[in-house]
Amino acid sequence: MFKKILIANRGEIACRVAATALRMGVKTVAVYSDADADAKHVQACDEAVHVGGSAPKDSYLQWQRIIDAAKATGAEAIHPGYGFLSENEAFANACAQAGLVFIGPPASAILAMGLKAESKQLMEKAGVPLVPGYHGSNQDPALLQAEADRIGYPVLIKASAGGGGKGMRAVEKSADFMAALESCKREAINSFGSDAVLIEKYVQRPRHIEIQVFGDTQGNCVYLFERDCSVQRRHQKVLEEAPAPGMTPELRQQMGLAAVAAAKAVHYVGAGTVEFIVEQAAYDQPESMRFYFMEMNTRLQVEHPVTEAITGLDLVEWQLRVASGEPLPLAQEDIRMHGHAIEARICAENPDNNFLPATGTLQIYRKPQAVSFERGVVRFDDGVREGDTISPFYDSMVAKLIVHGDTREQALARLDAALAQTHIVGLNTNVQFLRHVVRSDSFAQARLDTALIQREEAILFYQDPVGLQAAAAAVVADTLQVEQSLGGADPFSHRDGFQSHGVTQRRLTLMQGEQSLTALLVYGRAGWCLQVGDGELLPLQFSVHGDGLWVHHAERLHSTVYWQGEVAHVFTPRGATRISLLDPLAHAGEVAEEGGRLTAPMPGKVVSFAVKVGDKVKAGQPLAVMEAMKMEHTLAAPHDGEVLELLYAPGDQLAEGAELLKLSS
Ligand code: ADP
Ligand code: ADP
Ligand code: MG
Repeated sequence: MFKKILIANRGEIACRVAATALRMGVKTVAVYSDADADAKHVQACDEAVHVGGSAPKDSYLQWQRIIDAAKATGAEAIHPGYGFLSENEAFANACAQAGLVFIGPPASAILAMGLKAESKQLMEKAGVPLVPGYHGSNQDPALLQAEADRIGYPVLIKASAGGGGKGMRAVEKSADFMAALESCKREAINSFGSDAVLIEKYVQRPRHIEIQVFGDTQGNCVYLFERDCSVQRRHQKVLEEAPAPGMTPELRQQMGLAAVAAAKAVHYVGAGTVEFIVEQAAYDQPESMRFYFMEMNTRLQVEHPVTEAITGLDLVEWQLRVASGEPLPLAQEDIRMHGHAIEARICAENPDNNFLPATGTLQIYRKPQAVSFERGVVRFDDGVREGDTISPFYDSMVAKLIVHGDTREQALARLDAALAQTHIVGLNTNVQFLRHVVRSDSFAQARLDTALIQREEAILFYQDPVGLQAAAAAVVADTLQVEQSLGGADPFSHRDGFQSHGVTQRRLTLMQGEQSLTALLVYGRAGWCLQVGDGELLPLQFSVHGDGLWVHHAERLHSTVYWQGEVAHVFTPRGATRISLLDPLAHAGEVAEEGGRLTAPMPGKVVSFAVKVGDKVKAGQPLAVMEAMKMEHTLAAPHDGEVLELLYAPGDQLAEGAELLKLSS
């Protein structure tokens, strides 16, 4: 076994690899860019080497510097993770030339599988089923059009060098072919440096099912069952699970053997994934499932943890063992699976805005309970900490949440519960969207295909499962709780103070989206009562529980509230929402004048007046300072005028709505 390895990656996968190395007693060297100087993956390793600027091309893709770093630190091998250099044949060769072990397949296997068209020709020879299509080298547009017409529409044009869901065009009819071909070629040459394409039959409502394979240097090759990655957006995976619902032992074996044949055809070593596209007549007819080779990913896959969860194996450990020359730890018949696992990719993005990637700081980053790289019912793999920034330089994936259960139903329930406990504030994420997907009929009933998100879109986007009543009750309860714990001079936090001044009620302005509404908070013999908008006036009770409150109003709901100024982020087991509790003092100029009376917008104490009777004031000029909730607030003139009368003196308590001074209009 190696004594020291270099991890040529960042983020969650670098942390993931480091965790196994640590467990195995293998020392680790991290590499990092300017933006990652203080990143979690750097701290997860024993040593770290700076390799350049923030953009990947200046650091994580600078393979000569990475090789130099390995040599300088005495690392014997390099783990490339996924992305970056993991499928770069030249890098694998350069490692070998520098006397370093590349923890991955031989360069020749990367090359053979690197281009979709060439790999399909190879697979055809190895007897692996292919989607009907054209993958020849003749790229004459007229010939491609003729091939598409022969295959029959719809067809898919794919950039042969493509990846990551880019460089694909679906074509509905012959007349659209040429325009789609041109646009696909343009994208391909820009993204991948080659405009060679292949053409395939576009499989309707297909499933994406892939097989994990593993080879060793002794020529053994096994499969570690399948993963279903059908839930996709923009041809990119969102949720992955193992085993594939509806899979039969016969089909699993057929697909497993086909994947092993594919791997053996290129003398594969290490971890790899053979992706198949699966046609199905109906969701409940596994016997109708027909599978076709799509591509082979010659690296560890993002979704490998679901395979680890059902097999109880550590695939990174296997990678290290195989790369150091050991045979595969298990033979095919000794590899078992148990239960069901699902992974959700938590990404910084805005699902309601076409999944546009988001950047920002993880101001609040609370993970579900039971988090580590240990196998357990809930696993959370990430490469960030609270306070870290998701920058525009790298992938938008923040974390992977993996759950395991004895059955799919149990795994689903655990996934939903763990997503509910994932609280992220500071940037947009897809956490709530994932919850909607998990609860959709299609996903819950395992009617899986790549069109699932489109089909269910009515219930996936622009949803607010919390509701205004519950959100308002949560933010008001949280505010009262904070005021009580501060125990300040605010009359609302002291029953006597509050009674002696006759303050019995408080009006609050809430905003959700563009909608603004008033809530009425009343303190009576029975305690607090709250009325939201036109709703009923109901008792409001709350008690601290964990990191949040049990709130009992129109319903009983556990809520955790995080504040960003006036904006409250409310997390409940049902979902999360955002609502603002407007500080009336901050909006004094807008709200303080009611029917010509200049009134105290909330209960508090007069600190001082900035004006005296007879002063001429301009709109926006400070008139008085009030203290409420342990803070001073300045009240500004709503319009120009003359101060006619001051109705209170400094130190006086003010009830909400009390007229403070008279200003001429
Ligand atoms: P998986 O097959 O496990 O879903 P992807 O194919 O989405 O993984 O790729 C995994 C990661 O590798 C992505 O997050 C991305 O960063 C990187 N990646 C994959 N293909 C490309 C590509 N062609 N160009 C740039 N990055 C890529
Ligand atoms: P990439 O290298 O970008 O991952 P793939 O060839 O693996 O490209 O395809 C990505 C996704 O596109 C698949 O998971 C599937 O959803 C869809 N897809 C690929 N080929 C077909 C096809 N022939 N018919 C329908 N959908 C396809
Ligand atoms: Mg793919």
